[in-house]
Amino acid sequence: MILREMLSHMPRESLGFWTYGVPGLHHLASLSLLNVPRVLEKFGYAEVLWFCTDLLGHVVGPRAYLASLYNFDRAIGRFLPLDELEDVNIILYADHGMSFGESGLVDYNAAAREVFGPDLKFCTYPNIYISAEVDRSQKARELVDAGIDFVFYREGETVVACHGGGLAYFTEHDGLFRYTFTGSDPFGYYAAGYRGEALSREEWLELTADLRFPAVPPNVYSYLQNPYVGDFVISITPPKLPKTPLSNKANHTGLTTTDLMVPILLKGPAFEQLRGMETMWLHDLYSEYAPVDFDFVPARDQNKVAAFSSPNGPVVDLELSPAYRLRSRLEMAGLHSASLGVEWDLYSTFLSRIWLGAGAKVAPEESAILVGGVYELTLGRLSAAARFTYEVGPNKWELAHSLAWNLTSQLSAVWQIGRGVGVQFTW
Ligand SMILES: [Zn+2]
Repeated sequence: MILREMLSHMPRESLGFWTYGVPGLHHLASLSLLNVPRVLEKFGYAEVLWFCTDLLGHVVGPRAYLASLYNFDRAIGRFLPLDELEDVNIILYADHGMSFGESGLVDYNAAAREVFGPDLKFCTYPNIYISAEVDRSQKARELVDAGIDFVFYREGETVVACHGGGLAYFTEHDGLFRYTFTGSDPFGYYAAGYRGEALSREEWLELTADLRFPAVPPNVYSYLQNPYVGDFVISITPPKLPKTPLSNKANHTGLTTTDLMVPILLKGPAFEQLRGMETMWLHDLYSEYAPVDFDFVPARDQNKVAAFSSPNGPVVDLELSPAYRLRSRLEMAGLHSASLGVEWDLYSTFLSRIWLGAGAKVAPEESAILVGGVYELTLGRLSAAARFTYEVGPNKWELAHSLAWNLTSQLSAVWQIGRGVGVQFTW
């Protein structure tokens, strides 16, 4: 359910990248880069995701992870048409870091079962939900003794962190966060110059960006204000990793720099005023620094008119789009037959579109109701289409293929395979 909710916030045309995370299919993500200018022109932005790095890191380990990043780098060099992207703003970033497990797995599920027994309701890293009132400080201590590095819980307005060397406390007032501790300072903030003052989340980031535990107080405090957060929130510090069914070579688990700090590259005219900026919270990227309208929907799809020769005389094919994902189509073969239909875009990625359609054929010898579908593939200036049409009454079907080559942004040469050649104009 959470995954579905997450995917529902992804731009529709970018959803295909999710499937390209499967090893081997990453070539489709590479080829998608060819169509970035087309997507950019249509939507005002083009969001490319390179998912396979994450999966390979989790399951295979550091070498496959690095190789996948090199693949991405090569794909950009080979397929992204940089000459068509002058004055375009480019943002290149990772949405999270990754830590590699070199010193064993912690079975946090077993630890939670052992500590809470029948009171354990549900446990999914990093949240533990329980069904009874318990002594929180005592249970947190037991979890730490069972091998968990940090156990966080709320005590009134304070967030408490229990760890092997004592307790730490986070409080918030008017957007400013304060951190104190008893025992030892597990994050090393006081040694780095912190003096117990209340700081904003930006100040925390600035102060601690280079430390092993960057900006824990605002991060953890805010996380524990989420209404769905667990009764306890646990954290295992890399190179230890939580034991999971699949992701045991690497994971995103700790409050450490390898998991939480990512590089962000911003290039282009919109980012000139950010020059010199050292750090930002990633969740502010699109709300504060790079306002991209990810909900933008174009008013309509392309209109097209094509004329080509066929063994039965000239054919004119007209497509008019009244709204995005919808087009009406009229094909006239000479003056003796015409077919008229409506098509709806079922699925779209950077590379492909699948349309479903219905219509009617009007001809002197036989008229019929038509249903069918179209598969369109675009690779830069080359596009191919396969059109399947089924005539309901006469029970006949036809599969027609065509290729088009963009001569200019609006004019293409078209080859209707087996029928003839012609030209197509789009606007
Ligand atoms: Zn991951």
